[in-house]
Amino acid sequence: MLIVDADKCIGCGICEDTCAFGAITVEDGLAIVGDTCTLCGSCVDNCEVEALHIEGGEKTVQVDLAAWSGIWIFAESRHGVLAPVALELLGIGRKLADQRGVPLTGVLFGDNVATQCSMLVASGADKVLLADHPALGQYREDVYGRVLEGLIKEYKPEVVLAGATAIGRSVIPQVATVLGAGLTADCTGLDIREEDGMLLQTRPAFGGNIMATIECPHSRPQMATVRPNVMAPAAPDDNRSGEVVSLELDDELLASRVEVLETVVNNDEQVNIQEVEVLVAGGRGVESEKGFELIQELASELNGAVAASRAAVDAGWVNYPHQVGQTGKTVSPKLYFACGISGAIQHAVGMQSAETVVAINRDEKAPIFDIATYGLVGDLFEIVPLLIKKIEEQRRA
Ligand SMILES: Cc1cc2nc3c(=O)[nH]c(=O)nc-3n(C[C@H](O)[C@H](O)[C@H](O)COP(=O)(O)OP(=O)(O)OC[C@H]3O[C@@H](n4cnc5c(N)ncnc54)[C@H](O)[C@@H]3O)c2cc1C
Repeated sequence: MLIVDADKCIGCGICEDTCAFGAITVEDGLAIVGDTCTLCGSCVDNCEVEALHIEGGEKTVQVDLAAWSGIWIFAESRHGVLAPVALELLGIGRKLADQRGVPLTGVLFGDNVATQCSMLVASGADKVLLADHPALGQYREDVYGRVLEGLIKEYKPEVVLAGATAIGRSVIPQVATVLGAGLTADCTGLDIREEDGMLLQTRPAFGGNIMATIECPHSRPQMATVRPNVMAPAAPDDNRSGEVVSLELDDELLASRVEVLETVVNNDEQVNIQEVEVLVAGGRGVESEKGFELIQELASELNGAVAASRAAVDAGWVNYPHQVGQTGKTVSPKLYFACGISGAIQHAVGMQSAETVVAINRDEKAPIFDIATYGLVGDLFEIVPLLIKKIEEQRRA
């Protein structure tokens, strides 16, 4: 809770001007805190007369920060297959480990997954901590959380990275909370500050309008989840060598309150839009579910898949797994068609790393044209059928 010391407050208004959330007003020479306060602490830092403090928000410093060393990546394996984001984490993890001059460790959980260790080593890991057990074959949050927490307490890595996937987003916050560690979710950039070795964690903030760089100076490990498809995957080198440590796990550690009765794969997710080379995306301009049949037709002609803006998903024309953007997926296909999509920042952050972007929009001022490699100004219901016709003609020629 933000407390104002009425004896010290001089009503200068600096806190009111500093608050990004409009939570403070100065009335009759005294700062008044409203409901929108997020306890970000910005006003506390800026108050020149030290009239503000956050009750219970005193910073606790772990005394032994230097005892934590090494970079870890959580190598997610689903149904026995290494998730592509694991290789992306190894790519950035290798860079961070080299900057820090410490080893890079891959942490691999699963059942019968030992064969994946060589891939992790080839892709940059110096060491693999392998927890291979039938109880880890299916993701169960309580078991994964307990095992990971125990390993972190034992080995004390300074940095732990995981994919911002359904599994990473579920287990990592749980472990960070138990350890009292700082965690930045959904990072799009990671770096090491040379002077003090701090992990700099960058992610979109305030609805994607600014990029915030976050650091965790008072606790270890520094934990971050990283969006799939943002970092470049490591290029495997079969000549690399590394150590594999097979872990012995107590039955007690593996006991779970969760029983997985059945795993049902959502048909819609069978085409993972993060893994295809051509995406044809539709937005509000597509107007209806029927309109998306045209988008699907173009996608099929190009052996691609359908993607969508949030407006199209919210309207119920397309299912959520197809959504691209800040609250959807980040994609980096070779070719991205944006049909009837305005190009709002929250959409753009999910697709701007596409190699070639073709935008079709009837508004020549639409922001999507700022990102597009090729822009077609006009009605998508006229242009898309023409494109399909042209592709078919080319194919027949
Ligand atoms: C916290 C937050 C998170 C968000 N996350 C996401 C996200 O993950 N993904 C996302 O996409 N959005 C997200 N949004 C929403 C985002 O701000 C936009 O509202 C959304 O992207 C707009 O979708 P759109 O471009 O399809 O619709 P609009 O902005 O309405 O644009 C429709 C476009 O279609 C064009 N058009 C209309 N008819 C035709 C036609 N016949 N032919 C050609 N062009 C036509 C129009 O000129 C217009 O440019 C988020 C917003 C917030 C606040």
